[in-house]
Amino acid sequence: MSFIDLRSDTVTHPTPAMRAAMLTAEVGDDVFGEDPTVHALETRMAQLFGHEAGLFCPSGTMANQIAINVHTRPGDEVICEEGAHIYRYEGGGTMANSGCSVKFVPADRGRFTAEEVEAAVNDPEATYLARTRLVNIENSNNRGGGSVWDIDEVKRIRTVCDRHGLKLHLDGARIFNAMAVDGNSAAQWGAPFDSVSICLSKGLGAPVGSVLVGGSTFIDQARRVRKRFGGGMRQAGILAAAGLYALDHHLDRLADDHRRAKQLAAILERCPFVEQLMPVETNIVIVTLDQRMTVPSFLPKLKERNILAVQFGPQMVRFVTHLDVDDKAIAHVDEALKHGYE
Ligand SMILES: *Cc1c(COP(=O)(O)O)cnc(C)c1O
Repeated sequence: MSFIDLRSDTVTHPTPAMRAAMLTAEVGDDVFGEDPTVHALETRMAQLFGHEAGLFCPSGTMANQIAINVHTRPGDEVICEEGAHIYRYEGGGTMANSGCSVKFVPADRGRFTAEEVEAAVNDPEATYLARTRLVNIENSNNRGGGSVWDIDEVKRIRTVCDRHGLKLHLDGARIFNAMAVDGNSAAQWGAPFDSVSICLSKGLGAPVGSVLVGGSTFIDQARRVRKRFGGGMRQAGILAAAGLYALDHHLDRLADDHRRAKQLAAILERCPFVEQLMPVETNIVIVTLDQRMTVPSFLPKLKERNILAVQFGPQMVRFVTHLDVDDKAIAHVDEALKHGYE
């Protein structure tokens, strides 16, 4: 029996229909700007988010790193929260690729306020301080348990950015998950930001890739940085076709992932050794275990029952629902956690 893989929404396999779309994709050399399918994906994503241009990137990490590189100069400072992907999960890239320091703002499950940003901006007159240049927002927020931002707070942060001449980047790896909950459109989410990175390989179920969108000058510069980072791809239309397919067929179903995450949370909440459950807003469920159970003993117990999850902290475990987790899989988890734990 195959595993019910709840480690991440990146583990999905392309569906037969997605593979068919990839198989028939029209391609060309995208470094020469000749791949019509890549071009179609870039244009479509840019239009969706109300930006001028898009850039297809091999990963969300590269899309974020390119954005940071274009928005900043070495020695600048980036404002984000402690759990931000750009700080915690990109191999030190913000510091190594762009020579930037980061300043953390306090956050409520990954979300911070305009006042907190305002307080974190360095005085531009103080030559001994790093120049604050960029604010990074992550929506939905991974370490916040898939928490969703309030768009009105983002607009207030935009105002602070304007007052201080700061750029605002959205790490929208899971922005479509957030939109499925708050009902705002991609154009509404795109509006407050100078740049947005969107993952195709998470909830959208494509095998590879992210799209970075922004103004045409920004994307021109981003294209050069992508090449410098080694991300210029040739007949990438094969991959872009999966992204286009996902935009057509995999957005409406995100609500199913969210429903199943809530069901999963209810199942986990029943376990006597689950001490705490983060509020479940999208497709991520994070639990904290009590002293009776450690993560290194819990994960193998799950695995024996064909369920995979990941450690997310000393006593924390993360479960993520996605395209390859159906109602039957949730029913299996329900059964598996009913028996043999006490
Ligand atoms: C997954 C993810 C990314 C990008 O990850 P890649 O694996 O490089 O595609 C960026 N930000 C967040 C919040 C993510 O969850």
